Amino acid sequence: MKAVQLKNPGNISIEDIPQTLRAKDEILVKVRSMGICGSDIGAYRGVNPLVTYPRIIGHEIAGEVVELPENETGLKAGDRVLLEPYVYCGTCYPCSIGHTNCCENLTVRGVHIEGGMAEYVSHPRHLIHKVPDSIPWHLVPMAEPLVIAMHAIRQSETRAGEHVVITGAGQIGLLAAQYALSLGAVPIIVDPVDERLALSRKLDIPHTINPVSSDSLSEIWAITGGRMAEVVIEASGDARAIRSAIDYVSYAGRISLVGWPKSDIPLPTALFTKKELTIRGSRNSAGQFPESLRLIAEGKVNVAALLTQTVSFLDLPNTVKAISEHPEKFLKVVGTFDI
Ligand SMILES: [Zn+2]
Ligand SMILES: [Zn+2]
Repeated sequence: MKAVQLKNPGNISIEDIPQTLRAKDEILVKVRSMGICGSDIGAYRGVNPLVTYPRIIGHEIAGEVVELPENETGLKAGDRVLLEPYVYCGTCYPCSIGHTNCCENLTVRGVHIEGGMAEYVSHPRHLIHKVPDSIPWHLVPMAEPLVIAMHAIRQSETRAGEHVVITGAGQIGLLAAQYALSLGAVPIIVDPVDERLALSRKLDIPHTINPVSSDSLSEIWAITGGRMAEVVIEASGDARAIRSAIDYVSYAGRISLVGWPKSDIPLPTALFTKKELTIRGSRNSAGQFPESLRLIAEGKVNVAALLTQTVSFLDLPNTVKAISEHPEKFLKVVGTFDI
């Protein structure tokens, strides 16, 4: 079968590899659509220390069930499914308290283990989710970045009526803002790229701020009536944005950190105490795929607006290269097996 393989950083191609067979307690899926994620670009660039090579990339994978365990009753051949790509051990401390998303022994498809940019993939039964018929193939993989965004909002315990500043209008930030809106909260997007702010407004995000061309602090002060934001979702990983989050957040506020910074960042920790902040990391997600798929099916979150383009499977290597060279030109690309 054909697969998108990284031999080593910077060296990506379609390779013929032995056909994947169904493993015990797993489901064999014929892949139909595959999202390209930031972590795939990181693997291509060689900047993700978790990736080993050679590696088939891809963790946002949707397809049709081909083969199942004999005792399977919930799914049948031909069913449309999405893979939950975070394979956890189930026995470590975080797993024992339900935080399987930060399992000590986590293996993610396309990062630690072979990914799904291939004709077939075999995946554990309990990490396979049935997809509503109304979601077209090219949009199904978007449920994965949506669960990342949903988890960031969940970590912050956002409630209706609260102001949620979101720093970074990439796909996670834009999805988090839409999810916050669906909960009745008031998202405020902060991003230095005007095109991203324009897209945010198209998605009915009520407030957008460019922190380079305007005074973001006084704007947030005005929007929140002087309180500042009860919640900040940091979705950029940018050092300045992480520092600003401490100022954007209200006293007794909550910050959820979902962006991955590239290096250590000095922060005024006295303000954590003075404002009595709750600061939480947010990584992957746990148990949120069914809701994510439902939000997309019901049109509560517009994932189509984030799609820059779809490409055919065979064009994935060149597309990964193009995104790596000009990341600003792409928000989201999904590859398909010509559907
Ligand atoms: Zn992803
Ligand atoms: Zn574990």
